[in-house]
This record gives sequence, structure tokens and C-alpha cells, in this order.
Amino acid sequence: MSHLVSPSIESLLPYEGGKPVEELARELGISDAIKLASNENPLGPSPKALAAARAVLNDVHRYPDANAFKLRERLAAEHGVPMADIIQGNGSNELLDLAVRTFCTSEHHIVFAEPAFVVYRIAALAHGVPFTAVPVRDLTHDLEAMLAAITPRTRLVFVGNPNNPTGTYVSLDALSRFLRAVPPEVIVLIDEAYIEYASAADFPDCLKLRGERERLIVCRTFSKIHGLAGLRVGYGVSTAELVGYMNRVRAPFNVGNLGQVAAIAALDDVEHVRQSHQLNLSERERVSAALTRLGLSVTPSQANFYLVDMKQSGRAIYDALLQKGVIVRPFASLPNSVRVTVGKPVENDRFLKALGEVLS
Ligand SMILES: *Cc1c(COP(=O)(O)O)cnc(C)c1O
Repeated sequence: MSHLVSPSIESLLPYEGGKPVEELARELGISDAIKLASNENPLGPSPKALAAARAVLNDVHRYPDANAFKLRERLAAEHGVPMADIIQGNGSNELLDLAVRTFCTSEHHIVFAEPAFVVYRIAALAHGVPFTAVPVRDLTHDLEAMLAAITPRTRLVFVGNPNNPTGTYVSLDALSRFLRAVPPEVIVLIDEAYIEYASAADFPDCLKLRGERERLIVCRTFSKIHGLAGLRVGYGVSTAELVGYMNRVRAPFNVGNLGQVAAIAALDDVEHVRQSHQLNLSERERVSAALTRLGLSVTPSQANFYLVDMKQSGRAIYDALLQKGVIVRPFASLPNSVRVTVGKPVENDRFLKALGEVLS
């Protein structure tokens, strides 16, 4: 019999998300576990987003608006771009995959960093597109090396900014230069899932860099600072031409009606976003300082998580923290580190206490 799947799909492992609290309860009988593993907003969704979703619950027998008109109209006004330049996604995850499916074949080539968001690799493998994973330098995207990795076959380059799982970023100057230097036929996709958490003065907003190159896709999400991860809403901003091609390929009703209305209300709730940003900023600094006092090193982060170098097996620390009901995230690509989401102050204190016990 012939092979059921291609060698690249054979080589894939299913995406492993952060361990759900319920799973820990089932496996270890721990009922008060906290999850600092999936970069969710510890403040939860905006109450306004919840109210908007509730108000359309009775309509779930209807298909959602396949074009997400009102959401895209709202996003266009928010960012000062034409509606035709915006595509909605079932989380921005779908759009990362959709960009590969729409624009790349096995004749093409993709460039991304390593370690970076694992979905870039999964999408390339799933669709049989060759790729080069360029090692980060000082845990930061090495844009020069990524530029050098571009070949005549390269069709797509992924840049996560801030990067996940490192939390590091590339500056406005460096990214602008990169966007101009990449050959015009290549599509650059900037994944800005965490941009609302960034605080550095030279952090680039790629929606303001659309003039630097034609073939640019900027992806954002409602899963992180907006606290709507469970509703699966993201969006991409590009040109009407690229969006048009992606719309030919995407699934018809890719964002549900609850997600569409909740996302609009979440954008309206600027106070919830502001509070989420502030809490993250102050806790990120406080916890980083506490970890440094424990003798650990923390990679400076622009996101709502931080990478801690445990100076020993990160997997072992992860397992030991699980026993204490604290869920963090180990990475095979960073064997001595764990990634920890910034939680509420009580959650961060619980993590620090558990880690102190594990280390002593
Ligand atoms: C969380 C995340 C996303 C978005 O996830 P969705 O929930 O699908 O919107 C995209 N990129 C990175 C780097 C992420 O960490």
C-alpha cells in the first residue's frame, strides 16, 4: 500500500498547547491549579465583550456573516486602513496557515526563526513546503541571517514580534530595514499577537510600516490582551490583492457570530485593554526582579510571558511545579528554560513560592 501521508506530515507531532487546569485535576487530583502556560489574559475577557456575545446567543442557529463585515469595518476604522485590506481569521493561527496554503507550493521555500512560534513550522510541514529555520541570536530574531537565508524560491518569511517563546523583539529601525531589503516578490508576515503588551519606545507597529513594502501581512489576535482566546478571532492586514487570494482559500464561515460581536466590543473597551497592559507591565517587572534575586536569568520580555533560564532541566522544573499545581510551559528547543505567563499578582506569588520550594 502507498503511504497514507507525505513524509513531512509523517514527521509532524500534534501541536501541544499548555496543559489545561482540568487535566491536572484529573491526573493529579489537584483542584486549585493555576495555569501560566498559554499566555491568556489573567483578567479574563472584557465584560462588554461578554455582554455582546450573550446578546447574540439566541441567534446561533444562523450562520455568521461570512465576510465579518462589521468587525472588518470596525478594524478598518481602528487602524485607518481600507476594509478590503483586512481578513478575519479563526484565531490568527488560521491566517498563518492560510498564508502558506494560499501562496506556497512544494516548489517554494519559507523562512522563519528557531525557536519561534511552532505553528510556522507546522504549517510549512503540513503543506509540504521546504523551509529554513534560522537560529535566533541572543534569543532574538537574527534578521540579517534570515535575509541571507532567502533564496529565489522563498515565498514567505515569518517574523513574530515580540517573538514567542522568547519574548524578545526587533526594533523599528531593524525591522524597517529588513522590510525594505527583502526582495519584493517575497511575502513578509509579521505576527503581532502580543503587540498590545509591548512597552519599548522603539517597538515597531507594522501597520505603520505598510509603505515599506507591498507584500506584507500583519497578523493580530483577540486571544491575548483582549482575553477572547476561546472564541477564536484574529485578523490580518495586507493589500486587497493578497487578502483577495486568501479569501478564495479560507473556510467560508471561519469566525463565529459570538466572536465577531465580542471582538468589536473588546476593541471598544479601551479601559480593559489599558488595565491589562498596566497589570502585565508591573507584574512582568516585579516577577522578573524576584526571579533574578533567586539567581535565575530572565530574558527581557515585551510580551505577557517571560522565559526563565533555570540552569537545569526545564522539563524537570515543569514537572515539579505541576505537582504544586502551577502549570508553566517547557520547550524542547530550550531545554534549560521554561516559559511563564504573567498572571495576576496572587498567581505570580504562588508561582514564585512554588519555584522557591522546588529549587531549595
Ligand atoms: C497566541 C499566538 C498567536 C495567536 O493565536 P490565536 O489564538 O490563533 O489568535 C499567534 N502567534 C503567536 C506567536 C502566538 O503566541
